[in-house]
Amino acid sequence: MRYIVSTVFFVTFLFGSYSAYSQSLILNLPPTVILSLEDISLDNDETVCLDELSYLTSNGVVDLSLIPAAALYGFVWNNQLVNPYGSNRLVEMPDTFVIDFSQYHHANRNVVTSNFGFRRGWQFHYGTDTRLKIGDSIHSSFDGMVRIVQRGRAYGNYIVIRHFNGLETVYAHLSRPLVKVNQIVRAGEVIGLGGNTGRSTGPHLHYEIRFLGQPLNPRDLIDFENYTAIYRILDLNAEHFAYVGELDEVRFYTVRRGDTLSAISRRLGVSIDRLCQLNNIRRNSVLRVGQRLRYT
Ligand SMILES: [Zn+2]
Repeated sequence: MRYIVSTVFFVTFLFGSYSAYSQSLILNLPPTVILSLEDISLDNDETVCLDELSYLTSNGVVDLSLIPAAALYGFVWNNQLVNPYGSNRLVEMPDTFVIDFSQYHHANRNVVTSNFGFRRGWQFHYGTDTRLKIGDSIHSSFDGMVRIVQRGRAYGNYIVIRHFNGLETVYAHLSRPLVKVNQIVRAGEVIGLGGNTGRSTGPHLHYEIRFLGQPLNPRDLIDFENYTAIYRILDLNAEHFAYVGELDEVRFYTVRRGDTLSAISRRLGVSIDRLCQLNNIRRNSVLRVGQRLRYT
C-alpha cells in the first residue's frame, strides 16, 4: 500500500494535476470523505511514515491529513494556480454532491455592484462584486485552509481558500491579506482587508465560489441581501454548471472596417435588436474596428 500512495504523490508532484490513480479515487470515494491518515494506511499494523503523507509545496511541507477535501481534489494542493485541476474534473463529478453550508459566514456585508455572468456582451464575470471601503474586514466563508495568497494583474491581492465542505472561495482586490498559505482558518475569521488592487475601478470585493476549479454563480447559493446561505445543505448538480454549456454556444463577430450594425445583422442573420440586446449597445452606437460583438 505504501508503494501505491507514494506513486500517487510522485505523479502529483510531477504533473501537479490528476493521474489515473486520483481519477479512480474520485470515482470510488463517497463525495464527502475527507481523507485522514487512517484512510490511507489500510493495514492497521503498518506504521505509516509521516514524510510520505506530506506535501512538499513551494511554501513548505503540508501534512496531507490537514488538507480539506484532499481526495475529492485528487490530492492536488497548489499554492499558485486558481484552477490547477483541469477542465475535465467536472466530468468525473458524481451526479449530485452534498455541500454543507451550515457554517456559512458572509465575506463582506455590503451592496452588490456586479453579478456573475456576461458583462458588456462578451466578457464573462466569474464572481459577485460588493462595494466596500478600503480597509473593511473580509471574512472567510467557511472553515478551511488557505491555498493561495498572492498578487495578480487582474485580481490584485487575492486569497484562495479550500474548505472542508469541498468548495473553494476567492477574495480579490484586497488592500492587505492577513493570512499565510497553508494556514487553517475558521468560518468568519478576518482573512484580509478590502481594497482596490488589480483591475478594479473602485474599492470592492470580487468574490468567487468554485467547485473542482469551476466557478459557481454565488447568487445561486448566497442571499446577498440578507448575508446568509440560501441552503443549509446544498445538492450540487449539473444544473449549477449549466452556464458552461451556454458559454460554449456563444459566438462572436469581430467588427471590420466599414461595418455597420445593419450590414452585420444581414450577414449573420441576427436581428439588430438582438445584437443590441446581447451586446448592451444602442442601434446608433458607433462600432470600433476590432470590437467583438456577441451574436448567439
Ligand atoms: Zn468582480
